[in-house]
Amino acid sequence: TPNIGVLALQGAFEVHARRLSELGARTRLVRKPEDIEGLDGLVIPGGESSTFLKNLERVGFYDVLDTFVRNKPVFGTCAGCILIAREVRNPAQASFGVLDATVERNFYGRQNDSMILNSDTTLPGGPLEMVFIRAPRIAEIGPNVETLASRAGDPVLVRQGRILAATFHPELTQDLRVHQLFLDIVIEEKAKTAP
Ligand code: GLN
Repeated sequence: TPNIGVLALQGAFEVHARRLSELGARTRLVRKPEDIEGLDGLVIPGGESSTFLKNLERVGFYDVLDTFVRNKPVFGTCAGCILIAREVRNPAQASFGVLDATVERNFYGRQNDSMILNSDTTLPGGPLEMVFIRAPRIAEIGPNVETLASRAGDPVLVRQGRILAATFHPELTQDLRVHQLFLDIVIEEKAKTAP
């Protein structure tokens, strides 16, 4: 059984853990650097990316996560997507940079800052319900990044190998396909590195 951590410093971590448990994964809330030990994958949830960065500094956590996301499957949603992107704008801030993408924080103005959309996806099973909350926009992606769903022409669900990112909150719907995809990625990677 894969062991998946959910970064639990701030933001929407509980529901992610519940969704992954529903799919049969073992889950662990990651609150301290040593909690990352032995995990096969990590979810970085939504929240406020600048607050995440502050918390990571305070507990000397950034470097441990940096090493993890460079080597293991990671799923960043919303603020988590911002934290793993190569470049962050509006304003610029530090990021792990493992996802070859440029993201703009808080892109969708007041009127649109939270909304639910149904969009086509390349995931089997028809359109995907997506909840956006003060979402970033993925403005550019590199050649190795695959778009799995988009909103008005902008990618909102992307994959780059073992890295998965969504600008929306898949944990807030009953549709488990995005979490299932991450679980599949984790299982696949774990099989590759098995002794
Ligand atoms: N606006 C937040 C940020 O810039 C992201 C919002 C979210 O995660 N729902 O970090």
